[in-house]
Amino acid sequence: MSTETLEFQAEARQLLELMVHSIYSNKDIFLRELISNASDALDKRRLAGLKDDSLKTDDPHIEIEADKEARTLTVRDNGIGMTRDEVVGLIGTIARSGTAETLRRLKENRGNKETKDNKENGESAELIGQFGVGFYSVFMVADKVTLLTRKAGEPTGVRWESDGDGTYTIETVEDAPEGTSVRVHLRPADEEDALYDYTDEGKIREIVKRYSDFISFPVRMGETTLNSMKALWARPRSEVSEEEYHEFYRHISHDWTDPLDIIQMRAEGTFEYEALLFLPSRAPRDLYQRDARHGLQLYVKRVFILDDSRELLPDHLRFVKGVVDAADLSLNISREILQQDRHIQLIRRRLAKKILASIKELMGKDAEKYRTFWREFGPAVKEGLLDRAEDHKAILDIASFASTAGEEPTTLADYVARMPEGQDKIYFMTGESRAQVENSPHMEAFRAKGYEVLLLTDAVDEIWVEAVRDYDGTEFQSITRGEVDLSSEEEPSAEEAGEYEAVLAWLNETLDDVKEVRLTTRLTSSPACLVSDTDGLTPALEKMYKAMGQDLPSVKRILELNPKHPLVSAVKAAHDKRPDDPGLSETAELLYGTALLAEGGDLADPARFAALLADRLSKTV
Ligand code: ADP
Repeated sequence: MSTETLEFQAEARQLLELMVHSIYSNKDIFLRELISNASDALDKRRLAGLKDDSLKTDDPHIEIEADKEARTLTVRDNGIGMTRDEVVGLIGTIARSGTAETLRRLKENRGNKETKDNKENGESAELIGQFGVGFYSVFMVADKVTLLTRKAGEPTGVRWESDGDGTYTIETVEDAPEGTSVRVHLRPADEEDALYDYTDEGKIREIVKRYSDFISFPVRMGETTLNSMKALWARPRSEVSEEEYHEFYRHISHDWTDPLDIIQMRAEGTFEYEALLFLPSRAPRDLYQRDARHGLQLYVKRVFILDDSRELLPDHLRFVKGVVDAADLSLNISREILQQDRHIQLIRRRLAKKILASIKELMGKDAEKYRTFWREFGPAVKEGLLDRAEDHKAILDIASFASTAGEEPTTLADYVARMPEGQDKIYFMTGESRAQVENSPHMEAFRAKGYEVLLLTDAVDEIWVEAVRDYDGTEFQSITRGEVDLSSEEEPSAEEAGEYEAVLAWLNETLDDVKEVRLTTRLTSSPACLVSDTDGLTPALEKMYKAMGQDLPSVKRILELNPKHPLVSAVKAAHDKRPDDPGLSETAELLYGTALLAEGGDLADPARFAALLADRLSKTV
């Protein structure tokens, strides 16, 4: 049979190189990765067997064989196996997005390794965990790997071999058994480099026990089964160690960092299920990518059925990892059925409730962890405010927001508790950054008055504030929208209003880009600001809709003037004296432009604005 030599894809080659040069200290995990792959392959085969009898296998298991003489370790499964194309596609390439970026950072860390050892190693491990290097980790301990596989139901098998140097060979073999075996040709042991003797039975036992105990297929060495195979989610919390939970989490999530919280639940009665859920401690890179793989694993009576079941969670909790084991579903359930199944919808609602309740509990018992959670996942969770109204309260209860009250984010309950006498609304302002919002002229009167304002700077904030009216009865109010009603003593006096009538009317006519010009009390030190109509689109929303390709007419806003500002009173005085002065309309333009710039907006014609300004300045210097 002819042997072909192929090259690894460029990114795969880089990753291999990092593995060969061993970028982090825990090399034991290569065995866990191989067992995990074997277990996945057995799951897939069991599933295939449900649909096609001829693919069934009697004794699904994983076998480990060590040969001290030859210094090899072989992990064999009678799982689904791979076709030749699959071997080339799955083993020879890395298909995941974001890999190049991760590799770059891994490389950087490696460059730093000599100087700042441990921290960087930790981060490398996390990076690797994030994109599940899996199979390639064998090259930390191997100088050659031989993979022999035959896809269940296929007539021939494939032998793949590589010493990790950029190429591999592949050939068809006639007599391979169904399933996959991976033979690792071990490098000489070097305990100082944490490269142990992986032919040692004690070592193998220890690794399997530590990392793979919950694997639901027997992992055998000779006559002995090394793992207990107990479904972790079915065991009482008190009997399972933290370490076991963390290992399980790693197995299902490919995330190296420990989870923030573990949530276990059991529903009894007409529809029974058990769930074991994990809150990750960091957001995956693809959290906001529509086509990313999220969701839970679905089991039916301990049998693995589906990966990435998004149907089991509402979208805004898609980052939660874990397992749901339902007792009464059909083993043949498909994704299509899942989407419509009433029980699944019920489970989804119950899980969502439980998750939100657990996060609320976390807030109370571990503020630090809660803060991490919210920092990583808050924007995703807030998407839920666009969903079913009945969940709004629970989401708002666990939300926190940046605020003018301090550096730390605040909860709404705390905000409301701090509201001074006379304040009856939750004030907020949306924008792109804390600095931009905090320095906005709109803040002035609120600052003067001592009213706290929430600073909402996530993209999703622009949208949910349109959909949610109140928190527990206290209304939300944008400070850039409609008229603010802060206090009567600061109202522009009737006298002022009368005096300004003429200049306001003139400005209304002169400034085409604004809907209205009026006096305000919301400013203390700025001359002017722009506000949106109570029901008009905000500029950020307008931008968003346009970015999504919607064709909208530009929304005009209201220019508000501060009559206490010398510039505003001077414009008024000038207009009273010489209403026809052409220079006046330029001043009006400058006034409008300044208001736009102050809120971080874009001028329609920056060159003209600059010219007008330069002209004015040249008269004053
Ligand atoms: P991951 O397991 O994170 O997807 P790996 O690099 O470990 O990444 O494996 C890549 C793919 O190769 C797997 O997703 C699987 O499709 C296939 N594969 C690996 N090992 C086996 C095996 N023992 N049996 C069948 N397929 C396997």
